[in-house]
Parts: sequence; C-alpha cells; structure tokens
Amino acid sequence: MTADLSAGFIIRRMGLGCLIAMAASSSAGGGGGGGVSVPKCSVCKDEYQSDGDKAPHVLRCGHSCCAACVRGLIRTHPHGRRAAKCAICRAATAEIDVRPNHGMREAMAALLAIHMQTVDVPQGTSLTRQEYYGLLGLLGDHTMKLQSVYRASRDGTTYADLLRCVGDKQRLAFVIRKDNYVFGAFISAGLKLPDDPTDWHEYDCDYDCDVWHFSLAGHFPQPTKIESGQYVWVAGREKSGLGGNVGIGDNMWLGVSGRPAADIRSCFQYTYSHQVPAGYVGVRCTDPAQCSALLGGSYQFCADEIEVLHVGGT
Ligand SMILES: [Zn+2]
Ligand SMILES: [Zn+2]
Repeated sequence: MTADLSAGFIIRRMGLGCLIAMAASSSAGGGGGGGVSVPKCSVCKDEYQSDGDKAPHVLRCGHSCCAACVRGLIRTHPHGRRAAKCAICRAATAEIDVRPNHGMREAMAALLAIHMQTVDVPQGTSLTRQEYYGLLGLLGDHTMKLQSVYRASRDGTTYADLLRCVGDKQRLAFVIRKDNYVFGAFISAGLKLPDDPTDWHEYDCDYDCDVWHFSLAGHFPQPTKIESGQYVWVAGREKSGLGGNVGIGDNMWLGVSGRPAADIRSCFQYTYSHQVPAGYVGVRCTDPAQCSALLGGSYQFCADEIEVLHVGGT
C-alpha cells in the first residue's frame, strides 16, 4: 500500500473530527511526524494505539476515549452507575453500550505504520525503527529525541565503559537485547555514584525520580510498560561484594558476575507475578507464586547487547 492510498483510507475511516484534531495538533508543532500527529485520547491526552489500553472506544454520544479512560469514567460515575459519563458532553453511556471504535482502530494502525516511517531513528542505535517507535510510544511522545550514548558492542563491556559514556546524563533508557527479547528500564534520574568508591549508592525514586520497566519485543503483542519498584542501586567503581553494578527497580541487574563485574552484559532479571501485564507470552518462572516472567528467557543470562539512550526533549 502506498502512502497516498493509506492517507485516503485514513480520511475515509476517521471522519472530519479526527482530521481536524490531527491538523490542529500538527500545526501546533507536532514535530518529527512529517506534518501528521497521532490523535490523542480526549481524557488522558495520551496518543491512541491500535490495541490495548490506549485503543479508542466510542460512547453513545459519538465521542471517543481510550479503553483505560472508559474504565476510569465508569469507576468514577457520580452516582455509582455502571455507566461512563462523557468527559466532553457529559452524556452517559451504559457500560454494555461502550464499543471499541473499530474504524478508528484500523485507521490508527494504518496511520501509525505511516507515522513510524517519519521519526528520526538515532544514529548508531541497536534498535530497529519499529522498536524505537515503540519506545517513543511508551515514553508518551513520538516527537522526543533520543541519543544512543552507550553500546556494549561499540564502547566496551566493562562497568567503567558504561560510566564513562553515560556520565552525568539524566533520563536514561537502558535497553537489553537477548535473542529475540528486547526489554529494559527507564529512569528519570542518572547514575549517581556513591562518594566512597567501595560503597553503594541506593536511591529511592518515590519522590524525585521515576522508574519503570518495558518490553519492546518478544513478550507481548505490542510494546508494553511494566511497573517496578521506585529505586536504583549504583555500585562504586571499586565496590566488591553482593549484587551487580547497577540495579534498576525490582530485580533488574546489570553486571552481576564478579565485583566489579568484568562484563556489564552479565544480567539477572525477573518480574514479580503481580507486575506482569496481561498478554505475556514470554518465558515464565518455575515458582509462579513469587515470580512470573523472565524477560531474558532465564534468571541469569549474558545479553547480546546493552544500550543506553539519553532521552532528550522534543
Ligand atoms: Zn485516555
Ligand atoms: Zn460525548
């Protein structure tokens, strides 16, 4: 399908309201999307996706919002009815009458396929265009610019190589690639070393920073955010003892063999049962009471690649 045909398809399927919204957001500085922005949910303002929590749903009044916001509207109905009160016109729609907006979902899939071709993939990244586009979606803004600041295969595999390349940058996406699995973690802070190089620095991100894990390929039908505890551990340059060199949130460690680890690609990871989103098709643990997902295919593994991307502005 050519871009022109796809655009015609989108126009027929989406209707005037959406196109006006797209045109308005494009003219307001939609960024790297080549003049086309992705329509956003009228409630949460997140970009729509063709599937999952961010797929558009239509109410009886004709207005749409994402699946997650429909659930929220029903949960917060002022009189406790199983109904969604439209955030735009206040009309109520009974829960059983809320429908997926199939036409808009198909249009979204076509639009995202075109839009994906318009983003600037960072120079030197290990991510495919599709993986990179998925990461931008999870970050919540396809106009963000990311920079590949560290790759184990390019910059060296020691902890010192990682620290040298990352420096004092903040807002970091750690990407771990193992076989067909691509996953990792985002931290809004940087890697803060302890004052004593033989010690640890552990910081709690409940207040001043944000931590979440993600999958870009191999675990879910689409790129998916995974909740995590809000803490980061960073070992001093001369630290020896337990654990790895960098721990990001719950049970995700880089550099776990030898202290300081000879190789940052030596990883350890598992996800707690209650944090695994629906639709997971990757490897599960033998003891599902504690742990339910092994994103790298086993608890401990040597990654094929570790990359750190610096998440810049728009
Ligand atoms: Zn929404
Ligand atoms: Zn409405």
